[in-house]
Amino acid sequence: MKAMVLKSAGMPLELQDRAMPVCGSEDILLQVQACAVCRTDLHIVDGELTQPKLPLIPGHEIVGTIVAKGDRVAERFAIGDRVGIPWLGYTCGSCHYCVTGNENLCDAALFTGYQIDGGYAEYAVANQGFVFPIHATMRSVEVAPLLCAGLIGYRSLRMTGDPGRIGIYGFGAAAHIVTQIAIHEGREVYAFTRHGDIQARDFARQLGAVWTGFAGESPPEPLDAAIIYAPAGELVPAALRVLRKGGVVVCAGIHMSDIPAFPYSILWGERQIRSVANLTRRDGEEFMALVARLPIRTETESYPLAQANDALAKLRRGEVRGAVVLDMNMP
Ligand SMILES: [Zn+2]
Ligand SMILES: [Zn+2]
Repeated sequence: MKAMVLKSAGMPLELQDRAMPVCGSEDILLQVQACAVCRTDLHIVDGELTQPKLPLIPGHEIVGTIVAKGDRVAERFAIGDRVGIPWLGYTCGSCHYCVTGNENLCDAALFTGYQIDGGYAEYAVANQGFVFPIHATMRSVEVAPLLCAGLIGYRSLRMTGDPGRIGIYGFGAAAHIVTQIAIHEGREVYAFTRHGDIQARDFARQLGAVWTGFAGESPPEPLDAAIIYAPAGELVPAALRVLRKGGVVVCAGIHMSDIPAFPYSILWGERQIRSVANLTRRDGEEFMALVARLPIRTETESYPLAQANDALAKLRRGEVRGAVVLDMNMP
């Protein structure tokens, strides 16, 4: 099969002919239809996440059809079914976190496209316990961003409590999905984009944000909560400054630059800062059920597999409207 492979951090991915992945007795083999490109992939390729297996096939927002399965795989997975593979690829099932419903924090977790080969390839395998059936009627290219941008976005939204006014910093793949969910739930979305990024600002307005501004600007009313999707630590104090008492800032990225010092007064009043890490399978089930009910639209920009480096470069430059997706059906 063809695959885009990371041989060492800081190097471009290399197009390789690889042996087909081996399907164990608990595994499902997919023919990949589409794999979205996540900012986390960029952090892995750029060496900001330092523990990848090497060589590595990145990609953890995988949609594909089942072409083979191990002898112990459940009946509900049939050859030809469309399924998704997310970031969480393995948990131990027995550590403190796993037994208390926080498997996203499992000490022994393994992640797709990081410690397990991912979806920048024509085929991928996954353990049946970490594969989601996909019932949505959307095209595979449109479904793929739901598997991380959507899912982590959903988890980060749940971590904000029940805000009436929610701020979103970094208007990319996750934000454009979360905005639709938040508005559907009756919340007001305040979108903060990079200084001068008129395109992102217009995109946020089109999706229904009631207010848009550049990071550092203040909305007319204090916000109940804010989610930060951009990997920029200076946004944390900026977000605290526009929060009401008791509000929460949720940092949703896996990597962020250092947070600058800030006066205690902007945290005072029971404001909180917290991170969101990974996902649980329960998040996946809840989110997929929600997606099946809501008319969520994903805006995507597609690239063929062999142009994965170009797709990553575009994401690095912040020039993407919505999500970047590798479409295996593109020549
Ligand atoms: Zn565990
Ligand atoms: Zn991701």
